Amino acid sequence: MDVLVVGAGPTGLALAAQLRAYGASFRIVDRSLDRVHESRALAIQPRTLEALAPFGVTGELIGRGNPAMQVRMHLPRRVVRLPLFDIGLTDTAYPFLLFLSQAETESVLSEHLLDHGVDVERGTELVGLERAGSSVACRLRHGNGTEEAVAATYVVGCDGAHSTVRDRAGIGFEGYAYPQTFLLADLEVDGLERGAVHAYLTGAGVLFFFPLGSPATWRMLTLRPPDVPDTQVNLGLLQQIADRYADDRPVLRDPVWMTDFRLHNRGAVRYRSGPFFLAGDAAHIHSPAGAQGMNTGIQDALNLGWKLALVSRGRAPEEWLETYEAERAPVGRSVLRFTDRAFTIGTSSNPVIRFARTRLAPRLAPSVLRASGPRRLVFRTVSELGIRYRHSPATTAGPRPPGRGPRAGDRLPDLPRGLQARTIGPGWHLLLCGPPALWRDEQLVSLLKGRDDLVDVHRLGDESPWTAVTHGLVRPDGYLGYVARGTRLEGLHTYLDRWLPVQHR
Ligand SMILES: Cc1cc2nc3c(=O)[nH]c(=O)nc-3n(C[C@H](O)[C@H](O)[C@H](O)COP(=O)(O)OP(=O)(O)OC[C@H]3O[C@@H](n4cnc5c(N)ncnc54)[C@H](O)[C@@H]3O)c2cc1C
Repeated sequence: MDVLVVGAGPTGLALAAQLRAYGASFRIVDRSLDRVHESRALAIQPRTLEALAPFGVTGELIGRGNPAMQVRMHLPRRVVRLPLFDIGLTDTAYPFLLFLSQAETESVLSEHLLDHGVDVERGTELVGLERAGSSVACRLRHGNGTEEAVAATYVVGCDGAHSTVRDRAGIGFEGYAYPQTFLLADLEVDGLERGAVHAYLTGAGVLFFFPLGSPATWRMLTLRPPDVPDTQVNLGLLQQIADRYADDRPVLRDPVWMTDFRLHNRGAVRYRSGPFFLAGDAAHIHSPAGAQGMNTGIQDALNLGWKLALVSRGRAPEEWLETYEAERAPVGRSVLRFTDRAFTIGTSSNPVIRFARTRLAPRLAPSVLRASGPRRLVFRTVSELGIRYRHSPATTAGPRPPGRGPRAGDRLPDLPRGLQARTIGPGWHLLLCGPPALWRDEQLVSLLKGRDDLVDVHRLGDESPWTAVTHGLVRPDGYLGYVARGTRLEGLHTYLDRWLPVQHR
């Protein structure tokens, strides 16, 4: 077996989908007998919707979810209306935050795997890992208590915050716990305008209602106030807290899930140690501010799966596996920083931060978000569309990088609209811009000889945002590996010989 995927949460399920699409031999195991039925992560970012589109599941996710476009910021005696994603995102087919419970997201991914003959082995726990020559000896314990020894070339820990793989691989998980306790409930609320996110801002903190849809209309999220006893969460307690924040007194009822939890901010010291890889919560955990957790995990998986599959099949060099940590660890670190700042601003009792939260932010937010620069920055960051790998060893700017349009390491924008759909098939995509006649067939035949089954060619003409007479190579995860100007393809040839060499067949 090439890959053992440990954990079938959203990260493991996405990884399995990509390993299958790229022809790896793998197994996916999870110690729990059933998938998660709680909502947990409640939103899917635009970039995740794009990244999952190649598996044909994005339409189903959108069909089951609830796109929210507006935020209502509730202040004493007034409500400020803010746009959420309906401005500033012109280069994606999904310019919205999709509210959908994690249970539904996992259900859609599980159904996709089932439809493609992938068996998620539930009730199967990884209990032992040991390096054995060029492979890993793994011990799996089944629900009936029997143990099975299996060998895998690579093991990926998608096994959450308490990762067994991380522990057995001896990878540290550094960070800290926040002192506060969060209260969470999925429930019905009378008196709230539907389809918007509601944030009640006071000196004491923030109370959120998110439009979840299923299994209940709303997700309530707030901090346990210091004077509220640490008893089990119940509806009366939540109503009492809501009444402190909300002048308009929304009435809470029919909870389907109520819980409290402590938050941490921790990151794995390494994302890889030899044959062991970490992805998702096994690699980073943080506050839910900005709905980044599950999204980052799914995108970790979709950065890694095709690399593991192509290397295992002998179609790409081992060096690709080093690029996983080089590309994803900086993303993980930046999510830890960003969510920590947002958490501090939302919860601090420091008088300066309280003043900024309750007085400055509501006053400034509408005009800041109307200005195109800050607006774009905020939306690009939260939507995860701004993630790029310009400093990766596996992205190369050609000898004459174009003056405008995307650069090597950037995500392929959906411009002209529909470009992402045209390049959705598995493998690499060579984009040739400028008059089609400029690109000679014999030149392309020589470039792609021995790898043409992995590279599709697209002649784009002069379509924006590309400078005329540009060529670019899109990787299987939708990021540009190489971009250059002109019709000379020697630079691209060198790139392909290094990263997709013919002799690796
Ligand atoms: C109460 C709560 C509220 C949350 N709210 C939000 C939110 O509002 N927004 C947000 O973005 N995120 C939220 N999260 C976080 C979000 O749920 C995670 O980021 C997401 O589930 C991570 O997915 P994952 O697949 O990496 O890990 P997980 O979903 O944790 O999946 C790990 C899987 O590995 C399995 N496993 C573990 N050890 C083994 C082993 N040894 N052998 C076999 N299987 C194993 C587990 O059974 C589990 O199914 C919340 C989490 C919790 C608990």
